[in-house]
This record gives sequence, C-alpha cells and structure tokens, in this order.
Amino acid sequence: MELIGDDHELYDVLRRPAQPQYDHVRPEAIARCRTAEDVAEALAYAGSRSLPVTPRGGGHCFAGRSSTTGLLLDLSPMAAVSVEGGLATIGAGARLAEVYRGLHEFGLTIPAGCGPTVGIVGLTLGGGLGLLGRRYGLTCDRLLAATVVLADGNVVVCDDDRDPELFWALRGAGGGQFGVVTSLLFAAVPSPAATRFRITWPRDRAADMIDAWQQWAPDAPDDITASLTVTADRVEVFGASLAAFDPGPFADGEVDVRDDLSWPDLKRSLSEGGSDERILQSKSEFVRTALPRATIDELLGSGCELNFTPMGGAYNRVPVDATAFAHRGERFLLEHTGPDGDAVRRSWSVAHPHASGRVYPNFPDPALPDWPTAYHGPNYNRLLSIKQKYDPTNTFHFPQSLGGPR
Ligand SMILES: Cc1cc2nc3c(=O)[nH]c(=O)nc-3n(C[C@H](O)[C@H](O)[C@H](O)COP(=O)(O)OP(=O)(O)OC[C@H]3O[C@@H](n4cnc5c(N)ncnc54)[C@H](O)[C@@H]3O)c2cc1C
Repeated sequence: MELIGDDHELYDVLRRPAQPQYDHVRPEAIARCRTAEDVAEALAYAGSRSLPVTPRGGGHCFAGRSSTTGLLLDLSPMAAVSVEGGLATIGAGARLAEVYRGLHEFGLTIPAGCGPTVGIVGLTLGGGLGLLGRRYGLTCDRLLAATVVLADGNVVVCDDDRDPELFWALRGAGGGQFGVVTSLLFAAVPSPAATRFRITWPRDRAADMIDAWQQWAPDAPDDITASLTVTADRVEVFGASLAAFDPGPFADGEVDVRDDLSWPDLKRSLSEGGSDERILQSKSEFVRTALPRATIDELLGSGCELNFTPMGGAYNRVPVDATAFAHRGERFLLEHTGPDGDAVRRSWSVAHPHASGRVYPNFPDPALPDWPTAYHGPNYNRLLSIKQKYDPTNTFHFPQSLGGPR
C-alpha cells in the first residue's frame, strides 16, 4: 500500500470524483492499493486511527459515496483484464472503456453500461444496465465470483458455493457495504457486430414519441435496446440492435443508422453524444405501467432533461430473490436531470404517482423517504442479516447503507 497523504494537487489530478458536488470532500489520506493485501493493510491503518474508509472505483456515485474525509482506497492500480476459456477476470480499478477494449481482443464482452469512465465494481454491485442487458441481463447476472477483503482484513472468494450469501448480496444491493471487492470473475459473451441507431425529431413531437416508445421499447425483441431522451430542443430514440434494424413506429423521424459496427466502436459512437459529461442533479424511479398522456405533457413542461431506459427482456426473466437486485418486474427507468435541483424534484414529483416506488441502487437519491423499499424491495431483510454477518462493526457505511450511518 502506498499512502499519498492529503496532497490535494495530486488528488485533483489522480482521483477527483466524477460528480462535481463532491469535489470539496477531501480525504485525510489516500491509500493506493495494488493487491488485496494492500487493501487489508489500508483497512487496518484506518481502523487503528478510527478513520472512516471508503473504496473508490470510477468515482461516479451520484450521492458521493466514494468520497470521504477519512481514508480513500484508490483501487486504480488494480485494473487488469484477463480472459481464460470464456471467463473474464477484471480488477477492481478497471473502468468500462478498459473492460470493453480488453475483452474485445478475445472476441468477448460483458453486458454493462455506457459511460466509458464508470467503474466496473460500482456498476456491478448495484446491478448494471446497458445495451446488451435486454439480451443477457444485468452486469451482475453474468458474475460468477468475486474476491472481497472484509472489514477484519480476511480475503474471501465468494461464489454460488463459497460464502453464497455474500455473493448473493454483491449482485445488486449497491457498492461499498459488505467489503472491498478486488476482482470480479464474469461469464463473458461474444462481442457482437451491431447496428447503432439514432432517430431525432424536434421537441414538439416529444409527447407522441414518449407515448409510442413506452408502448414499444420494453416489449421489443431482446436484441433491441432503444432508449429515449428529451432535451431542450429535441427528442431522440437511440440505441443498439443485434439484428437488422427496423425503426418500427419511429420511421418518420430523422434516421441515422450505422450498420455492422464492432462492439467497442458502437459504444464509442454512442458516447460521442456526450453521455459521460458531469451530471449536476438527477432523480429517477422505475415505472411499471405506461404514463398517462396528461402526465407526459406535464413532464415536458418541467424544464428537465428526461431519459427513458427500457427494462424487460432478460432483466425481468430472473426471479426477484435470485440476486439482491430486486427490480425484475419494471418496464422502464425514468431519469430527470438538469442543473436546477428544484426543477428536477418537481419533474420527479409529477411522474412519482405513476411510478413503482422502486429506485435503481446505482442511481442513489439521498432524499428518498422509504429507501429500504425503494432500493431493495422484498430483499431488504435478507440483506440486513448478511450485512450483520460480514460487516458486524459497520465499517462500510454511509447514509442509506444497510447498517445505517454510524
Ligand atoms: C456518466 C455516468 C454514466 C453512467 N452510465 C451508467 C450505465 O450506462 N448503466 C448503469 O447501470 N449505470 C450507469 N451509471 C451509474 C453507475 O453505475 C453508478 O454511478 C456506479 O455506482 C458507478 O460506479 P463507480 O465505480 O464509477 O463509482 P464510485 O463512486 O467509485 O463507486 C460507487 C459505489 O461503489 C463503491 N465501490 C467502488 N469500488 C468498490 C469496490 N472495489 N468494492 C466495494 N465497493 C466499491 C463505492 O464506495 C461507492 O459506494 C452512470 C453514472 C454516470 C455518472
């Protein structure tokens, strides 16, 4: 373990969080960890000084949970990606662009998210939605094993046979609660050639397009993932298709299709639109039934950007108690984003009566009143007992974490 100390200049360059709201939360020290043993040493160091401790992967947590005034575990030196017999071992410091690049060399990939600098562990522990998800499930649905350093410094490899309850909890409850993951083993899938599509209309067509999208995208064939975004000047349906692309109910827009892209090229082509910019304010909720037209009209008056992500497909074919991810019956995820927090809250309140009350653990919302139900649904009590077993002293904690704040 290498201790960097509170050298803020270096910190700015090395490990600034992706969310600007948390730039001011400075760690007392940063432990650069190259191995699981380094992590155990860092945990002992924090314990001996009564410092709060938190791991950081890609630093993208919307609620700043990988920021601390105590000891920050920087896992970026552990970013190796290796493949053997269709199984991918990925170090905790890897970000999605490195994962896709590393696996593509072997003709493989995993279903995972779009932001190229999102960390693989943070994404996986909260579920992992992405363009291959309707075909292959969440990122965590492809997880076969994880190496974890527990609060007492013990290193365990968990899977369906070894520490199965811990392995269950790591698949979807959200990061930073049970231990520090140092590597993940995935069942990879073939890296496909695919079609990237973008269909755009002026904003005054947004209500019609949302209406058509919500009837179609969650039930589309598994090979098609079509998201919808409404911005200040336009509405856009975009995504990927593993089969020949048919624009279906959207043929009257301005259609931009690129066929036969390699998977990394397709990912790059979609992030060219700027999907990895630093988001200022965001609230979201899952939706199980179509939004009424009057609600759509009201949402469009809120002044926020609206992002609709389809669920269904393989996401929803996994039983709710098979992993900790409790949101297996949802049709889509609706996100409200923008620089004005009041506008974001107003927009969320308009949709809320028609939403399911469930919230994606990877899009945490500190203002939720009943967060145990929102994030964990019927899996909450089982998660509490696993937390009690694996982190009885609540070393890994934050507001809304399973052990509660200390
Ligand atoms: C621009 C952007 C694009 C996104 N795109 C997608 C997307 O396409 N699909 C999707 O599903 N989500 C997406 N997300 C949400 C993303 O999944 C979450 O923000 C996720 O938690 C980020 O993980 P991270 O490692 O980058 O963040 P971090 O802030 O580093 O970590 C998130 C949480 O996990 C914990 N953690 C990190 N590393 C470890 C570890 N090794 N062991 C234990 N706990 C750990 C942290 O302590 C923190 O609590 C996006 C977010 C942003 C900001």
